Order: sequence, then structure tokens, then C-alpha cells
Amino acid sequence: PMDYQVLIVGGGFSGSEAAYALACRGVRVGLLTQSLDTVYLPFTPLPEPGPEGSLMAEVGAVGMKGWELHAKAKYRLEGEPQLHLFQSSATRLVLEGRRVVGVETWEGPRRMASRVVLALGSFLMPRLTIGDVVEEAGRLSEAAYPDLYENLLALGFSFVDQHAEVAAQDGTPGYSVRYKSFAPAEWEAESFRLGRLEGLYGLGLCVLGQGTYARMASEGLRLAENFAVELG
Ligand code: FAD
Repeated sequence: PMDYQVLIVGGGFSGSEAAYALACRGVRVGLLTQSLDTVYLPFTPLPEPGPEGSLMAEVGAVGMKGWELHAKAKYRLEGEPQLHLFQSSATRLVLEGRRVVGVETWEGPRRMASRVVLALGSFLMPRLTIGDVVEEAGRLSEAAYPDLYENLLALGFSFVDQHAEVAAQDGTPGYSVRYKSFAPAEWEAESFRLGRLEGLYGLGLCVLGQGTYARMASEGLRLAENFAVELG
């Protein structure tokens, strides 16, 4: 039995935006993310307005600080009856032949869905460098675990190297993150499919490699639009 029509892994900008837009259209969505305290949390105050019709536009404003945006967005996500936001780490895809039917989690339970969307951001094999310290983290103080990346590698997916810098701000020193994104040939931009497997989709930074918060929100809305049409 399926737990959700759509299961989204990663509660960043793209994944949250897609989950919210789908739930508002009546689709039953699971939004699984490894830390509820970093849902919809930017690295810097919001630099530009969110796209029309987005959660970013609904709760955000230019210059809004990270924690305020996070708190407001999370409140909306949790208030959406068709959306189940929960904390868990996805470690492996559950397969039936070449079809993805859910994910395994580090905590134990499998979460099943007819469509699985990976919205993993900068958390595929990241290395964060701050001063002399190197951590396995996709952002400051948010650890990344290698399991899902290793599973994707074993399934034959290929990746490319990416790099982003965060400037020093408010007494926090600057830092940089190296991470992987899916190789361009793995992802079909029009349909969001990660074509190597059925029922698997990629969204946001983990397939685009680079981009802004507003772009990630737009991509989330675009995925929701596509899925809503396909799911009737
Ligand atoms: P994210 O927002 O990164 O969200 C991904 C989520 O998935 C995370 O919460 C993570 O915990 C979760 N996750 C990952 N793997 C798993 C798993 N296996 N199980 C469960 N949960 C998982 N853009 C700007 O516009 N302005 C900036 O200043 C800016 N600075 C950036 C700095 C850095 C270091 C990086 C890497 C990117 C920056 N970007 C910036 C680019 C981009 O807009 C952001 O990275 C944006 O957060 C990407 O959105 P996303 O939804 O794709 O992923």
C-alpha cells in the first residue's frame, strides 16, 4: 500500500514549494527531511521576492531573515491537511524491478509512494570548509550522510562536482561547500524524470547544480503544475 501519491525527499526551497503547491491542489504528499529545524531556511536574508503564487511570496519579503522565513513557511506547511511533513533520513530507494516505489529511512520505516522526488540540495557527498575545519555537511551545522549517494552510485547514476561560497555575515565567518549534482544526462528538465529508473524525479539544486532561492521555488511550482495535470 502507498503512503502518499508523491513523496518528496528534502524540505528545502524546491521540495517544500512543490509539496505545498501539490497539497493545495489536493494531492496527498509526504515531505521527508532530515532536520525539521532547517525546513525552508536560506543561507542569507531573502535577496529577492518569491515568484508569483509561491509560498515564498506568500510568507516572505525581501530582506527577511532566515529564521523568520523558516518559521512562517513551516507553519504553513504543517497546516496543510494533505501534506505530511516529517523528519527522517532517506538512505536507499525501494525498487520493484526498475520502478521506484518508495524510500528506506535510517530510522527504520519504509515510506511508499507511486512517485519519489529527490530534492536533496547541496547534500550529495558535500564537504564544507570553514577556516581549517572540513565537515561532511551540506550547510553550516547540518550534517550529510553518505548512504543515499552511495545507493544512487550503485544504481549507476553519475554526478558532477559543484562549489558554492557563503560570505561572512553577522559575526559568522564565511565558508564554502563542495557537493555533487546529478550529471546533466541523468535528468530530463521538461518532465523532471531521472530517467535511469521509473517513478523517480529530480528537483532543485541537486539536478540544476547552481541557482537562486527564487529559481528553486519556481522549479517547485513547475513540478507541482506538471504532476497535478498528470495525476488528474
Ligand atoms: P536545499 O535548500 O539545500 O534543501 C535540501 C534539503 O534536503 C535539506 O534540508 C536537506 O537536509 C535535505 N536532505 C538532503 N538529503 C536528504 C536525505 N537523504 N534524507 C532527508 N533529507 C535530505 N542561493 C541564493 O539565492 N542565495 C544564496 O545566498 C545562496 N547561497 C548558497 C550557498 C551554498 C553553500 C549553496 C550550496 C547554495 C547556495 N544558494 C544560494 C543556491 C540555492 O539557491 C540553495 O542551495 C537552495 O537552498 C537550494 O534549494 P533546494 O531545495 O534545491 O535544496
